[in-house]
Amino acid sequence: MKKTVDLVVPCFNESDVLELFYSEVSKILDQCEGYNFHYIFVNDGSRDQTLDILRRFAAEDSRVRYVSFSRNFGKESAMLAGMKYSTAEYVGILDADLQHSPDLIPQMLAALDEGYDIAAARRVDRSGEGKVKSAFSRAFYKVINRMSDVDIAEGAQDFRIMRRPVVEAILSMPEYNRFSKGIFSWVGFRTKWFAHENRERAAGQSKWSFSKLFRYALDGIIGFSTVPLKVSLYVGVASSGIGVLYALYILIRTLLRGSDVPGYPSIICAIFFFGGLILCSLGIIGEYLARIYMEVKHRPAFLVAETNIIPEPAEKSEPAKG
Ligand code: UDP
Ligand code: MG
Repeated sequence: MKKTVDLVVPCFNESDVLELFYSEVSKILDQCEGYNFHYIFVNDGSRDQTLDILRRFAAEDSRVRYVSFSRNFGKESAMLAGMKYSTAEYVGILDADLQHSPDLIPQMLAALDEGYDIAAARRVDRSGEGKVKSAFSRAFYKVINRMSDVDIAEGAQDFRIMRRPVVEAILSMPEYNRFSKGIFSWVGFRTKWFAHENRERAAGQSKWSFSKLFRYALDGIIGFSTVPLKVSLYVGVASSGIGVLYALYILIRTLLRGSDVPGYPSIICAIFFFGGLILCSLGIIGEYLARIYMEVKHRPAFLVAETNIIPEPAEKSEPAKG
């Protein structure tokens, strides 16, 4: 019996590169015997010809399945949709821009056959990346691993192939604010890491701006750690402690030496300082509250406008709970 493999490919405005991606990956898949492959392309609300290209692929090749969103929901949602629509024993995820080199696929499949649950790529060098970006990225891994109880491997990429039970475990996490790097490591399972060099994008442009990456990092930290909430508590306690000590110092000084120059500058400083602290703490609470708000709304992580996959996953037709 051939093993079934679904390859999930999130695509957002990738019409420049899709043809090349499809031909390169198909070449590799043709060399892997003993597997029954399917593509699951997820069109994440592209505004270019991506959907037309996917429809054409599907018409010409019965291995091609696609899901098309009603608008752009982000890569996290695209990966989630791909996994929800997958049915195979092995499920892979790779970017459409060929930065995730498909040459690794045969080795990854072999690792799963050997008994590993996950075969995942890990970035070893950051040569293709700006200095500032890689410094931030390193700092991010330090911070998140300190603050949360999951241990996220530095440089771990979304590029991976997983066994069905791993996919089911990931799908069992219903959160709306999805931070895959955290989710992937939170579920555990035996992982074989593959060193993977950062390739240049084959065509098209990266969809990540610095501010998007910053939001993403914040999502990761807030999604997987409550330490920031505690930090605001500790800083609050420490600063009011300092306030009390300072008040005592002024009291004693006034008793010993009498009152001198009215302390208006120090009051202004204190107002700014404590005002700032209060706003920071409120901001941190606000970030959590905003996420709780989004979670309790139970909004779907994506909406499908068109797909050639039948039947659709069962739970999609369920009425909304709550
Ligand atoms: N992507 C997506 N939705 C988005 C942004 C990106 O599906 O909103 C896809 C994109 O088409 C690509 C992958 O996610 O296949 C990685 O995106 P990109 O290459 O822009 O990110 P980078 O490699 O620069 O981190
Ligand atoms: Mg890319």
